[in-house]
Amino acid sequence: MAQHFLLSAEAKSLSLAKVARMSDEDAFEAFKAIRWAENDGNPVCPHCGCTAAYTFKARKIFKCQACDKQFSVTSGTIFANRKLPIRDYLLAIAIFVNGAKGYSMLQLSRDLSISYKAAFVLSHKLREAIGAEQAASEKLSGEVEIDGGYFGGHIRPANHKENRIDRRRARYQTGKRRVVVVMRERKGRTFTHVFNSEAASVPHIAKHVDHAATVYADEAVHWDALHARFLTKRVNHQESYSTDEACTNQAESFFSRLRRAEIGTHHHISGKYLSAYALEMAWREDRRRVSNGEQFLEMTRASLTHPETKRWTRYWG
Ligand SMILES: [Zn+2]
Repeated sequence: MAQHFLLSAEAKSLSLAKVARMSDEDAFEAFKAIRWAENDGNPVCPHCGCTAAYTFKARKIFKCQACDKQFSVTSGTIFANRKLPIRDYLLAIAIFVNGAKGYSMLQLSRDLSISYKAAFVLSHKLREAIGAEQAASEKLSGEVEIDGGYFGGHIRPANHKENRIDRRRARYQTGKRRVVVVMRERKGRTFTHVFNSEAASVPHIAKHVDHAATVYADEAVHWDALHARFLTKRVNHQESYSTDEACTNQAESFFSRLRRAEIGTHHHISGKYLSAYALEMAWREDRRRVSNGEQFLEMTRASLTHPETKRWTRYWG
């Protein structure tokens, strides 16, 4: 089979307009080529793994020659039981990828003429598919920057100064505040995870960062625990933002992207979904120099190889 155009060099310049002009037949072929790339785009049974399947001309379904079960190009993926034309899923991915600061679900629902709920579930499925890669990745190594950023549980300051409280004090906290901890390889990958406090993240860091790595962190006392596990260099932000050796600029640039997504796109990120948004922005940060076309391909591949998700399938049901 000739190489599908989506897998070619031309795909690097893939634009929203090109996807919008695809027929449903084109989109079907694209899904096949991406999902079953290792089998030259030919169907592989999701039930038994057999590579011989009957095709039906009239309907876009397959029947396995080994186990007799029927399947579609989206069976067993996050797009299983789909309600939209297949092309619209590619469109959704192209739109989602274009949003460097994230993409609002309200906007996506307008773009695709689907309900807000459908757009909400669809974009969370995409986040889950790209986020799953982190869990499956090797440990971070080399030079790794560590930093934490607090999100959620915002308390508005009172209008008059005399009514203002010290919002940092425990008794004024809402219990909704969470910290995103980022672990970022210099010139490499970005991992994120959500905790109730920075101190609680140290065992997780030890699990995901190679013990031979050099770790960079700021002066906060809870990072002292890192010294027992890694060669750790600290930067004191009270004195300077970076010294020749120690800085956490890469980690901070991740947070600036996540904050821009929160303020500019989503307006509010609830604790429940903070982890999904952090993973999404880490994915975007790591691909900031990769063409939109390649990001589109990667996200489509992740979506079509990530199994059907229990969490989102019956989310509103
Ligand atoms: Zn089968």
